[in-house]
Amino acid sequence: MSDKAQPVELPPITLFADGPTEEIREANMEAVTPSPGFPDCCFLLVEAIVKRADIILMDYTRDQVTVRFQIDGVWHDLPPRDRASGDLMLATLKKLANLDFQERRNRQKGEFGAEWMTKTHRFEITSQGVRTGERVVLRTDRPKKKLEKLEDLGIRPKLLAAFQELSEASEGLILFSSLPGDGKSTLWRCGLNSVDRFTRDYYSIESQDALEPEIINVAQITFDPNIDETPLDKLPQLLLRQPDVMCLPDLVSGEVVNEVCTTIRDQQKQFYGYIPSRSALEAILRVLSLKPDPAAFAESLSAVLHERIVRKLCEDCRQPYDPSPQMLAKLGIPTGRVQKFYDEWRPPPPEEQVDEKGNPIEIPVCPKCNGIGYYGRTGIFELLVITEEIREVIRKKPSLDALTAAASKGGHISLKDEGIVLVAKGTTSIQELQRVLKK
Ligand SMILES: [Zn+2]
Repeated sequence: MSDKAQPVELPPITLFADGPTEEIREANMEAVTPSPGFPDCCFLLVEAIVKRADIILMDYTRDQVTVRFQIDGVWHDLPPRDRASGDLMLATLKKLANLDFQERRNRQKGEFGAEWMTKTHRFEITSQGVRTGERVVLRTDRPKKKLEKLEDLGIRPKLLAAFQELSEASEGLILFSSLPGDGKSTLWRCGLNSVDRFTRDYYSIESQDALEPEIINVAQITFDPNIDETPLDKLPQLLLRQPDVMCLPDLVSGEVVNEVCTTIRDQQKQFYGYIPSRSALEAILRVLSLKPDPAAFAESLSAVLHERIVRKLCEDCRQPYDPSPQMLAKLGIPTGRVQKFYDEWRPPPPEEQVDEKGNPIEIPVCPKCNGIGYYGRTGIFELLVITEEIREVIRKKPSLDALTAAASKGGHISLKDEGIVLVAKGTTSIQELQRVLKK
């Protein structure tokens, strides 16, 4: 961070103020450049870009400002700032976004631009007074890897092949599931992009208030929840068009599930649905909580594909270690199968961050991940194929324990075991796997 006592050399970032006209943009820029909060803004924005932050969160309380970066979905604390310098910085940020810098209570939203290392960036800023002070959220437009298919999300080739084989069935219900709010649209798009949509007619029935991005060769049909419409209002007319496959990103109610099951039974159609849940097995319970007819649901369901997002270890600085026989036994990995596990890089304890004379030394951090130890994310996929045993449990005593027991009889690989495959490959660490499985 900038040291106020010394003249500060600013990092080579160029900021672009926002405003409705060229004059206002120029005036805003002229106002911010000499402002006392400008250097701190430059340092903060550069740090956010370099560390690949998606969100910068600043919470203003009476005495201080806490600053956090969200990187690969995980919050990282930065050193807190004193309120006075934080206020100066915020005034500069607001002016850059053509907002009223004196307004500290009402919600304001704007944006501004930046250029760093020949790349342009946009920052969207939202400020809002809260009980403790003010909350400021800066979102970056960090370019993201194009995610189009399940392979892009990291599914194992064998699991993908098994899923694609299931998708070739002419009838039945296949469910996608992920944690609530955890990449539903991406999973939905990549899942449907990974099945053959070219030899059969696909239709998607979606709420007009929550449209999924369009998918090639999947025709969108919308219902309006504001006038109490549900997918059921669109299904009869859709069936007249003789579709082969229908996709419902929101199962909405038990009534809808029942209609899906009836259509599968009577007209031999295939359906895809989405339900938020913590695992493939829990997805079944989530659907049952909508109170459909359990027997009809058991008969129709053919598979569940669940995805959990995990951070990948930085390949430039991950630390190999020998897993103990006890650890391997606990994870169910035969001895000799895996030689090395990997852990994230961690700085040495403070007492070791000194030279022989006891003077503090700077510990170099990995330039790729900036010492975070992780770089990018991937999906852990769990594919549950519905067996006769599982159907029996759904009909009679659907509990997580009973479903788990029935699934393991059929050789089902749990989400945890799929995660251990990634640990054994060195893609992620045990700690990271435990963190995401606890969610
Ligand atoms: Zn690294």
